[in-house]
Amino acid sequence: MTQAFDVVVIGGGPGGYIGAIRAAQLGLSVACVDAWTNAKNKPSLGGTCLNVGCIPSKALLESSENYERAGHHFAEHGVMVGQLSLDLPQMLARKDRIVDQLTGGVAYLFKKHKVTSFHGHGRFDGSAEDGFRVVVSSPKGEETVLQGRHVIIATGSVPRPIPAAPVDNEFILDNVGALSMTAVPKRLGVIGAGVIGLEMGSVWKRLGSEVTLLEALDAFLPAADEQVSREALRMLTKDQGLDIRLGAKVTQVARKGKALKVTYSDAHGEQVLDVDRLIVAVGRVPNTEGLQLESVGVPCDARGFIEVDGHCRTAVPGIWAVGDAVRGPMLAHKAEEEGVAVAEQIAGQQSHVDFNTIPWVIYTAPEMAWVGQTEQQLRAQGVDYRTGVFPFAANGRAKSLGETRGFVKILADRQTDRMLGVHILGPFASELITEAVVALEFHASSEDIARIVHAHPALSEVFHEAALAVDGRSLNM
Ligand code: FAD
Ligand code: AMP
Repeated sequence: MTQAFDVVVIGGGPGGYIGAIRAAQLGLSVACVDAWTNAKNKPSLGGTCLNVGCIPSKALLESSENYERAGHHFAEHGVMVGQLSLDLPQMLARKDRIVDQLTGGVAYLFKKHKVTSFHGHGRFDGSAEDGFRVVVSSPKGEETVLQGRHVIIATGSVPRPIPAAPVDNEFILDNVGALSMTAVPKRLGVIGAGVIGLEMGSVWKRLGSEVTLLEALDAFLPAADEQVSREALRMLTKDQGLDIRLGAKVTQVARKGKALKVTYSDAHGEQVLDVDRLIVAVGRVPNTEGLQLESVGVPCDARGFIEVDGHCRTAVPGIWAVGDAVRGPMLAHKAEEEGVAVAEQIAGQQSHVDFNTIPWVIYTAPEMAWVGQTEQQLRAQGVDYRTGVFPFAANGRAKSLGETRGFVKILADRQTDRMLGVHILGPFASELITEAVVALEFHASSEDIARIVHAHPALSEVFHEAALAVDGRSLNM
């Protein structure tokens, strides 16, 4: 028997589960189909983000930072710890508990909002009288047929594989293996010095690994503002001790007993790196496997992303797609906002996502966060701009925290003073960036920020001072 819904969502990650909840809030009948099964063989909602992405990585980043603080920074505060030791199983168990709580939280929210949850793999099976048929195959092989007036595809992404380094999650790891190594490897290699590579490399470096990152590009973090990437590279290599090799393209990985020989080519020719474990973090690709999109005529682009317009509409009216499976940054908050916008459009509202004000964050130490245009983008566009930069070193709260590295940089149009971009390298950049997002969303000028009262002592005063610096009138420098 077919079960009919106003909306069937395929995928229970941030794009799918948030879209499902919003649609239910708006009075629509909603089903959400999700295939995720966790290491305990249990269904686990929340997708990549909650299970093996944003949340577990941040849990381990925090734990490993505490370990580093206790080992290297507590003494400066007069806090003496005896013999420092690492209980890795406890650290991993804490991470797993957080994941369980949050994924269980999504299941609770589905019950609360009356979203009907189906565990299994969903695929299209052509159009129905009023909408589309979606077949759910459970892990036991049972099939359920759903019918949705609308279908939201939120199937996310999977790690990009590279032939040179096939993942076995024992020696060669993707994000799943990198988040659950049961021993700290002596020598850890990471292919790709992007967001995930840097975060995972930071965790294991703090816990004691010698970490080498091999990055094919000659430029470090080219998407970030050039001043941020330059300074961050210096801090991550000099202060944190990450060995980041740019222009290093991995060509082969060979297993030698319990170790790996990684061959890569750089400007000087062929090089070899010996490691005990290797993380592959060369980006992610959209996941549309087994969806049978052809049965409903939904096209993908040349890179495999489901084709959508600015409103997340596919070529087929009634079928929508959001999150990592479509164009745009692969970020959980982008997926969530698209999920909300689609649910509201289905309910007849005029919602959209402002792609110009999506914040980016990299949770290294110090953190990096930015929104809007970089200096190199403005230069390339020939925009006439002014720059205001203020360092955390001149801020009382940063000094109290012992986190004085980095700066806030504001770029504003020279004529109108409208803020065009904000770039932060420093403590809690992930939190501070929100003020910048609000400013850009409300088309603020740097003068607006300069005239807003900021609490003292607070890290946000650095943002205030950077706004004053645009007009050459910083007060504390
Ligand atoms: P996903 O979260 O990938 O969810 C898709 C879901 O759909 C999965 O549960 C999958 O099993 C299910 N599915 C797929 N196909 C089917 C099918 N046919 N039938 C049924 N179910 C299906 N982003 C941030 O914003 N901040 C961060 O700090 C951050 N950290 C990250 C760290 C790591 C290590 C990784 C890997 C990613 C990180 N991301 C971060 C990215 C973030 O996880 C993704 O952008 C986000 O999860 C995308 O959400 P989504 O809903 O599109 O897809
Ligand atoms: P991100 O997309 O932020 O996760 O970053 C992935 C990074 O991996 C990018 O900076 C790529 O340039 C890099 N990369 C891709 N393929 C290779 C390779 N074969 N060797 C080294 N780095 C690579």
